[in-house]
Amino acid sequence: MKLPYDEDYLREMELWPFFAMSQQSLQISIIPTVIAEDATPVPPVALRPQSARPSLSPHAVQSTTYFAPPDPERAARIAKLDWDALKIEAATCKACGLCKQRKQAVLGVGAPEAPWLFVGEGPGGEEDDQGEPFVGPAGKLLDAMLAATGLQRGREVYIANVVKCRPPGNRNPSAEEALACAPLLDRQIDLVQPKLVVALGKIALTRLTGSDASMASMRGKRHEYRGIPVIATYHPAYLLRNLPDKLKAWEDLMLAKKTMASL
Ligand code: URA
Repeated sequence: MKLPYDEDYLREMELWPFFAMSQQSLQISIIPTVIAEDATPVPPVALRPQSARPSLSPHAVQSTTYFAPPDPERAARIAKLDWDALKIEAATCKACGLCKQRKQAVLGVGAPEAPWLFVGEGPGGEEDDQGEPFVGPAGKLLDAMLAATGLQRGREVYIANVVKCRPPGNRNPSAEEALACAPLLDRQIDLVQPKLVVALGKIALTRLTGSDASMASMRGKRHEYRGIPVIATYHPAYLLRNLPDKLKAWEDLMLAKKTMASL
């Protein structure tokens, strides 16, 4: 079987020297990027009745996972907002304690009708300063990952986070904070109507699938959120600390590309 190695992609991910040096051992550990037939459906945390759901994208043939927001009235109101109103909603949001220390809410960036949606965890210090997701060191790697996939920030990609306000000290957002922010991310998804979502890291993956399973067990499979295929991969900040897993991330991106091509 010919594995889809492409030197340009590997160079974009800063994997080429590493890959070239250890090609033999790496080849042994690489699994082919096939969509698992037996992807276990994830039980939803809670299901709202169909009638209460916002209008779904044309791609959303079914929605297997749907979180019940803590405040259904707020969620229903946010589900009707346009982009301008959603920006104001995020900027003035006080639904959880993260609002107390933010400089500004960081809603998202990219093409408003992008086919690709990348979902991270939450803004860090530089994002809090600049008001744009993934502008720090993790963002540089994300840009390289996008380039490796043949994509570019601001073109066919929209980038969002599970939470829109910086968790103090860059800690992980709590489940409550993720749920409080869920209506904002859900509205972004409905407005963008992406064809495919890439979950960057465990926080995004748990938020979108409702499963607390490890990244290792969830990657390499096609999940679904609001009827949209979801592919999981490692968070760029994790990859900066765990260089060998960049190759797995690259495989995940190739799976995402293959999935997108099949839609
Ligand atoms: N990490 C994230 O998950 N999101 C950002 O916007 C920046 C870093």
